[in-house]
Amino acid sequence: MTPNTPLSEFSGIGPARARALRRLGLATAGDLLNHFPRDYEDRTRIYSIAEAPEDLPVCISAVVAEIPRAAHIRRGLDIVRTRVVDNSRELQLTFFNQSYVRGALEVGGEYIFYGRLEREGKRARMVNPLFERADRTRFTGRIMPRYRLTAGISNHLLVGLVERALPDCAGAMPSVLPEKLRHAHGLPPLDICYERIHFPKTQEDVASARRSFIFEELLTLAAGMTLLRKRRCSGSGPVFRAEALPDFYRLLPFLLTGAQRRAITEAALDMASGRPMNRLVQGDVGSGKTVVAAACAFLCVKSGWQCAMMAPTELLARQHADTLNGLLAPVGVTVGLLTGSQKASEKKKRYAELKAGSLPFVVGTHALLSQGVAFARLGLVITDEQHRFGVDQRSALAAKGEHPHLLVMSATPIPRTLALMIYGDLDLSVIDELPPGRKPVNTVLIRESKRRRMYGFVREQVCAGRQAYIVCPTVERGEAERESPLHSATEYAEILQREVFPDLRVGLVHGRMKPGEKQAAMAAFVSGRTDILVATTVVEVGVDVPNATLMIVENAERYGLSQLHQLRGRVGRGSWQSWCILVSDARNPDTRARLKVLTETTDGFRIAEEDLKLRGPGDFFGARQHGLPTLKAADLNTDTQVLAEAHRAAHILLEEDPGLVWPEHQPLREGVRRLFEQNQDSLN
Ligand code: ADP
Ligand code: MG
Repeated sequence: MTPNTPLSEFSGIGPARARALRRLGLATAGDLLNHFPRDYEDRTRIYSIAEAPEDLPVCISAVVAEIPRAAHIRRGLDIVRTRVVDNSRELQLTFFNQSYVRGALEVGGEYIFYGRLEREGKRARMVNPLFERADRTRFTGRIMPRYRLTAGISNHLLVGLVERALPDCAGAMPSVLPEKLRHAHGLPPLDICYERIHFPKTQEDVASARRSFIFEELLTLAAGMTLLRKRRCSGSGPVFRAEALPDFYRLLPFLLTGAQRRAITEAALDMASGRPMNRLVQGDVGSGKTVVAAACAFLCVKSGWQCAMMAPTELLARQHADTLNGLLAPVGVTVGLLTGSQKASEKKKRYAELKAGSLPFVVGTHALLSQGVAFARLGLVITDEQHRFGVDQRSALAAKGEHPHLLVMSATPIPRTLALMIYGDLDLSVIDELPPGRKPVNTVLIRESKRRRMYGFVREQVCAGRQAYIVCPTVERGEAERESPLHSATEYAEILQREVFPDLRVGLVHGRMKPGEKQAAMAAFVSGRTDILVATTVVEVGVDVPNATLMIVENAERYGLSQLHQLRGRVGRGSWQSWCILVSDARNPDTRARLKVLTETTDGFRIAEEDLKLRGPGDFFGARQHGLPTLKAADLNTDTQVLAEAHRAAHILLEEDPGLVWPEHQPLREGVRRLFEQNQDSLN
């Protein structure tokens, strides 16, 4: 048997079981070995009847004291009872519908019984325990792995299969880890790791094996990230003149905050240094990151280079193009737009302008990555809401120039070690100050019963000249919630307009509208031609309408805290008091506790932390949040120490062998390719 042996060749595996196994992603012996237990059950300790704890599964060694008695209670219900003893006590056993037990238990024989023990006074009993002869144990007296299962595949079956595959295959599994590193980091040989992860003798066995697999995975990830980075890095960058900055400041309708000024100065120094800038600007929603991007773009264009800025949605790209044009047109800097939904002729024109160098500044979506896009002199690449992009998309845009400066902006706070992995050698500017005059958004959590009052409040705000967003989930007709009136954003908007606010102007924007319709709806809201905008989460990132003071989120329980925080960030952008109303009838106390967090704080970092605690790391830092591939063994949030170690190891390894061309590094190289290939989705 080799790791490539198909499971259908195992005895006892017919076509039906093979199909069921494939549902678990298991086709070969090697797959089986890589199907790690999701947890373990410690059955090592054998108790005496007297000492065994109650109500927990335990193993008890005892001798059968009487011939098991069978009784037929009624159709479909047979009972076998017997009594077993050890030198301390006796234990009553009851088996329901397991008549075979009568022949399987021999009087005077010693067995291990595994089950939950119940006590009534002095008497102890167990119902339907698992049992096996004490001199031939397979499933007791040891730590049992528990696997992820599917219909038709039991844990015992998997245990049996792994037991058969291990001896032949463990030594033949491919390892991406060079032997030297395994030694240096005190990791056991691979075959021992497989043995330990499936059938550990102790908890330490599990820990050492896990550490090895995690290290292997994180090393692959770190090596991949470093390689991606190496593709651009080094070399000299364009030199921008920082002296032009005061000219930029004069264009602004407001005074910069200290934090904004600091971020701009730091970036300006980088861009004047002659080496390519790699800077992350991190700041909570509404902290004013766009103006930092504008300053950098201004310096870029004034120094005779082109700038490209990429945003994750068409709405946001369009809004940036408008804002930046408004700001920079007076000094002769034109900002062009490039998005996927533009007419082919429009796109062609843009391509030509960029290639000729006649357009100094372009703002766009992923469309900027298209093959047709080429620049005459690309000097600066900016990505907004960078966490929405895959790591290689950033470099793909940068690759359209020769070592251009790089500025990435994000509102998502990330733990330091993780930032190290994602951003590597990026320098960091933090905008930790909100523009002056901002009043914190008042946030309340309400139930359905307050809906009428809430609509009254919407009316009040609109009559005072303000505007409101109402966010609702995109629910298709048919799959609508039982009593919820919110069949779909479209229907909801119609009902609001017809029945609740016939005298107000209700707009609608959702993800499935045609781009032209979306723009029209946004434009109407921006210019104040609609009072209330019913929207799906397309308004989540970036949208900036300072006159809007009310954000209502329907079915708030459906969103993560960070996402709700982003939504709330759409209001509180002007000098008026703003409100965020979370509507939820969820009864689950955990859910309500989670939503409560938003009513208590507006600190994005704290909210991200809570999100992490409450939702679990997998969700929060899922690929969607950071663009990294999904991992099998490692958890980027908790395995931080191994992460740092693997990151260092990858760094050293790539110093020695920058292209990963040494023979002993080929498995790693292959591993990197596999990891990033399997996860192409996450890079979109
Ligand atoms: P972010 O992208 O960080 O969420 P934006 O760049 O969209 O925030 O800025 C939010 C709003 O604050 C915009 O309307 C912007 O014009 C305004 N703004 C930015 N900086 C200042 C400032 N220093 N003073 C007053 N208003 C500002
Ligand atoms: Mg923004």
